[in-house]
Amino acid sequence: MLAAVAASLLAAQDHTLGYDDTPSYPGSKWRVHDSKRPRPEAITPGACNAQPVKPPSDAEVLFDGTSLEKWETKGGAPTWKVENGYVEIVPGKGDLVTKEKFGDIQLHLQWRTPSEVSGKSQGRGNSGVKLMTLYEVQVLDSYDNPTYADGQAAAVYGQHPPLVNASCKPGEWQTYDIAFDAPKFDGDKLVRPGYVTVFQNGVLVQDHTEIWGETLHRQVGKYSPHGDMPLLLQNHGNPDRYRNIWIRRLKPVE
Ligand code: MG
Repeated sequence: MLAAVAASLLAAQDHTLGYDDTPSYPGSKWRVHDSKRPRPEAITPGACNAQPVKPPSDAEVLFDGTSLEKWETKGGAPTWKVENGYVEIVPGKGDLVTKEKFGDIQLHLQWRTPSEVSGKSQGRGNSGVKLMTLYEVQVLDSYDNPTYADGQAAAVYGQHPPLVNASCKPGEWQTYDIAFDAPKFDGDKLVRPGYVTVFQNGVLVQDHTEIWGETLHRQVGKYSPHGDMPLLLQNHGNPDRYRNIWIRRLKPVE
């Protein structure tokens, strides 16, 4: 009897697959991190462990494999580990934030989760590409690692699962190509939400997806007016690696 009660309590606290008590965004049929939300089909992308591509001539290289001079961490210079052409997250050492601010962008980067698998669900290879520090495209080891649909790799965290699960194996380099239209404000008023398109390992996983506001854990995020903002790489306590990070500012054709 006691064992059964303990087991059910443990089960109640295991949120590996999501939650049943969270709010929903207006117009969404799913709760934030809804445990009943179907998880996207897993496919095998053709471009795992791709070699870094040479940035186009109008790109700004944010990380070339040797220096974090374009980045900062709250309170000072970043102390993530730079070696062998990549930068590795050091747990407890804060997020990486660009010194510069950006608006509409194209972003290219590669990331890999640890080859030695530890943890599960959101505890496995968690990091994130936070556009404008507010809107997270999730980074996670989503290879055979069930978690809530809106929290897996390439999800707009807490809002939109990817169209398919195009994850490579743990320890393999993965690529994100992201196009981001920043939200537009007129004074305090939102006049156009943000939109994001994401290719993961060459596969379209977010197709001009509307961002509903700041991406939050277990909460419905809102928009608060802002101008250009830095790009942030999330430190979620897992030693993921990044390399080959470059960005293009998108300007309308006159
Ligand atoms: Mg994350």
